[in-house]
Order: sequence, then structure tokens, then C-alpha cells
Amino acid sequence: MLDPGESPSLANSGQGDTVHEGQRPRTGLAASTRRWFDTQANDAASANIDEYRIDWLRAVPFIAMHLACIAVLWVGVSSVALWVAAALYAVRMFALTGFYHRYFSHKTFRTSRAVQFLFALVGAACVQRGPLWWAAHHRNHHRHADTALDPHSPGLRGFLWSHAGWFLTPHAFRTDWSRIPDLAKYPELRWLDRYDTLVPVVLAALLYGLGVLLEHTQPQLGTSGGQMLVWGFFVSTIVLFHATVTINSFAHRFGKRRFDTRDDSRNNVWLALITFGEGWHNNHHFFPGTVRQGFRWWEVDVTWYVLRLMAMFGLVRDLKPIPAWVTAKVRG
Ligand SMILES: [Zn+2]
Ligand SMILES: [Zn+2]
Repeated sequence: MLDPGESPSLANSGQGDTVHEGQRPRTGLAASTRRWFDTQANDAASANIDEYRIDWLRAVPFIAMHLACIAVLWVGVSSVALWVAAALYAVRMFALTGFYHRYFSHKTFRTSRAVQFLFALVGAACVQRGPLWWAAHHRNHHRHADTALDPHSPGLRGFLWSHAGWFLTPHAFRTDWSRIPDLAKYPELRWLDRYDTLVPVVLAALLYGLGVLLEHTQPQLGTSGGQMLVWGFFVSTIVLFHATVTINSFAHRFGKRRFDTRDDSRNNVWLALITFGEGWHNNHHFFPGTVRQGFRWWEVDVTWYVLRLMAMFGLVRDLKPIPAWVTAKVRG
């Protein structure tokens, strides 16, 4: 476990863009591939590289995961594989919206350290990096929404960039520690953030093992290790990824603007359905301090329903409501 004093990034808290003496430009085969496994390897900026150019070598795993989905043609399909893929989409989407977003990024409710870690683990299984990286970028998004400092505004470098380009650049690889002092104090979260490949690799291995087990013990299900791996991990993760990032791209382009916010955020029911409530993005930009994103009873917000259920069982508490003045404004 890292101690704050030992962590190079924490030691540089707030100075993520500092170039340190004796450090060489961190590009090339060795540096890029090492960062596949250890995100803090050579984690310093360099004056000699274009911070906003896609590092294609570092992006190889991301591209390979898309290509792996084509293997459905060889492994075939079964209903159990589809159910596992759908269940993993649902559980992981909830971890992203309920915890990576509404808890870690916005602190809209409280929970125990154990539940915090459990959902950080499930969130890490989404292959969207660790909770600290995710929350730091998201806090910067709200702070600078649709301005030059927004990490992923579609108005800045184009729609595709906002969807799946920005996080493949050296600028976005680093975690901005100055944004997350409240989260960085937990060594288990720092560890998850640093070795963010670990949980997805374990999940993939478990799915393969499950498939092999079912193939031998329940042959009538018609599944296999390869099928569970491809559907349960690759297809589910890639669909989950694209659904998540619609909020960065589509939800800043398509939909209705209830509130005249300084950014370009929209409310979009279709996005709200596939992301369990995140599509009420204009609501959320107007008042990010509430656990709810649907502001009217008919604005479907599955994440909010599940969090309420968890609160009934004492797993989470102090869910921040929509303030009365916001409700009054919504009713007009
Ligand atoms: Zn936004
Ligand atoms: Zn947010």
C-alpha cells in the first residue's frame, strides 16, 4: 500500500503538469506498454510530446477489446451467455452511475468504507479506469463544462473526440490529484486506481472459468469458456462503455434544455433509459448536488430507485434531496 509520502502523484498534488528534472519524454513502446498495467509508471508530463494527440500504442487494449467482440462469430451464442452479459451490464452501469458518478464524483450520499470499496471494485470492473481518475476528470468536467478546459466537450475537438478520443491522450491519462483530496486519502482506492487493469483481468478469467465449468457440468446450456468470455466480458464491457460515454457526447448535443445552464447539457429520455438515469444531464448540470437526476416523477432514474432501496437496508445514507427552490423552478 502506498503512503501519501511515497506516492509520486500525491507528492505532486496540484502540480500534475510539472516536468521534473531528469525525466525524459515518456512515449515509446516501453513507457506506453508499462502504463497498460501500472498507470503511475512515468506519470509525468513532458514538454516534448503533444498532450492532446492520441497515443495509439497505449490505446491498443481499447481497440483490441472492440475487435475481440467479433469473436462471437466463432464462439456462438446461448441464452445463459446473453443473460450474464446483460446482468454484468446492469450491475456495472449501476456502479458507474450510483458510485463513480453520484458518490465518488459528487458526494450526494454517504456510505461505509466497506460499501465504498465494494462498489469501487465493481466500478473498476467496467474498464473505465479507477474511481479516483474517473472522479477527478468528472469534477473537472463540471468545473469547466463546455469551455476550453473541459476534458471532453463535443464543442471543443468534435463529437468523436468527446465520445472516444479524449481519454486516449497523454493529457487525460493522469489523475488530477488536486481535484480529489477527499478520495485520495484512502489507500485502497489509490491502489485500485494505480493498478486499474487488475480487476477487469480477474473478471475475464472468472467468466472464462465459469464457462468451462458450465460446459462440463451443464452441457444442455450450450455455453463454453470462450462464449462467456466474449459475451460476458468483451461485448458487455464495450456496450457498457459506449452507453456511458453517450453522456459526454450525445447528452451535450441532443435533447431538451430545461435550464439555461452555462454549458450545453441536455435532457434526453433515451439516454436516461440506457444509463439508468444519467440522461437527465441538463438537470444534473443545473444542480449536481442532489442524488437524483430525474427531477419529475416521470423522469425515469433507475439509479435513484436502487439507491433508495439500498438506503432502506442501511447500506447508504443521507441521500441529498432536490432542494425546494429547484423543485419550484421545475414546476414553473
Ligand atoms: Zn456534462
Ligand atoms: Zn456529474
